[in-house]
Amino acid sequence: MPESHAPTALTLPAGMRATRAVQVLLSVLPAQQPAQGWTQALAEAALQAQGVQVNRVTVYRALDRLAEAGLLQRSVDAQRTTRYWVVNALETAPSAHMECKACHQPMQLDDSAAAVQAALQALRQAVAQTAGVHNPTLDVTVQAECAHCAHGQ
Ligand SMILES: [Zn+2]
Repeated sequence: MPESHAPTALTLPAGMRATRAVQVLLSVLPAQQPAQGWTQALAEAALQAQGVQVNRVTVYRALDRLAEAGLLQRSVDAQRTTRYWVVNALETAPSAHMECKACHQPMQLDDSAAAVQAALQALRQAVAQTAGVHNPTLDVTVQAECAHCAHGQ
C-alpha cells in the first residue's frame, strides 16, 4: 500500500505537472533519504522498487525539476556525482558534534534545529564547490556549556 498520506510526503508547487516518476519520488525521497544524499542511481533503484520502470534521463529530469521547485537541495560532490537532499528531511541531514567545554560530556544538538541544519548544508555545499578541494568531509565540532555546567553545580 502506498503511503500517499504520509506526513513526510512532499507537495509539488501549484501548476507543476507530476509524472508517475515524480509522484512516486514525492513520497519515496523524504521517506528514505540517505545521509549521503540521493543520487540518480539510488533514486532509480527506489523507483524500480516501487514498480516504476524509468531510465536514467527520466530520473535526472525528475530530480532536477524537484530541485528547481525548491523541494530538493542539489550538490555536486568531488567525484562530480550530483546528490540531492530533501529540504525538509532535516533529521537525516549532516549533524555536528557538540560537547561541553567544562565537563566534556557529549551534548545533543537538536536535530530539528532548522537553522543549524541549513547552515551545515550550506557549509557542505560551499566546501564541495570550492576549487582545489577534493573529497571534503565535514566534521563540525561545537564547544558549548551543558545546562548543568552553565548553571553551576
Ligand atoms: Zn558540562
